[in-house]
Amino acid sequence: MKEFKNALVTGGTRGIGKAIVYELAKNNYNIGLNFLKNVVEAEKIKNDIEENYNVNVLLLKGDISKIEDVKNIVDVFIENFKNVHLLVNNAGITKDNLIIRMKLEDFLEVINVNLTGPFLITKEVLPYMIKNKDGSIINISSIVGIYGNAGQANYSASKGGLISLTKTISKEVASRNIRVNAIAPGYIETEMTLILNDDLKNRILEKVPFKRFGKPEDVAKLVTFLASPESSYITGQVFIIDGGLSLGF
Ligand code: NAP
Repeated sequence: MKEFKNALVTGGTRGIGKAIVYELAKNNYNIGLNFLKNVVEAEKIKNDIEENYNVNVLLLKGDISKIEDVKNIVDVFIENFKNVHLLVNNAGITKDNLIIRMKLEDFLEVINVNLTGPFLITKEVLPYMIKNKDGSIINISSIVGIYGNAGQANYSASKGGLISLTKTISKEVASRNIRVNAIAPGYIETEMTLILNDDLKNRILEKVPFKRFGKPEDVAKLVTFLASPESSYITGQVFIIDGGLSLGF
């Protein structure tokens, strides 16, 4: 008999999050799909998945940087699914500028969504995982959180912070059979990277040994592996998925 599990995925309406939602649905996860605004796309994904896979999708609109929204997201998830096996902190934003031009509000907004958001959701979800003595948390960071990137002080700091958060929480909850890992993608073809101009894209591609950007599905497959019992001895790690970009070719 198939075993069904329950996953909460933030930012599941687009790009990497959407691919994660589909990959998890294929692997028998009921999905709590969080998003910020895009109700039409969220409903489309729910209908498509429920028609094609034997799992339920619960739509959870809300801003992960706001504590009231986060409490509501987790409460509704638990009311419906009773327990939570997997949390994927995927939602993230950019507000790029050189530090001398970066406004404080743009720095704080990125930190609030990309770092405070995962902190808030993890805090709400952990008591259920601790009670179950089982769980996996996967944080979508970025290679710029390891290496830095000019023009992204806010984003790089948020993604670097997310890696430290991952490592620290993994140490705090390992004794409860809960694993916490991070994924650090390079350039993945999504709306976030669509906005880059062709010149910049070509300059980046020159440095990628594979000479192509990654696909959201590449990241989603790694999420499924890190969520599965196949990776049960892995915690507190950061997995780079960047076509070799960070090797510095
Ligand atoms: P994306 O296409 O811009 O999608 C962002 C998603 O996050 C959307 O579903 C959006 O919902 C949701 N979202 C935004 N702000 C939110 C908030 N405050 N609360 C709840 N949901 C929110 O992003 P992506 O490129 O797939 O990136 C996904 C993750 O991977 C991010 O954490 C990003 O930093 C990381 N990453 C991406 C790349 C890349 O090359 N794309 C590389 C490294 C790391 P709506 O649709 O409702 O607006």
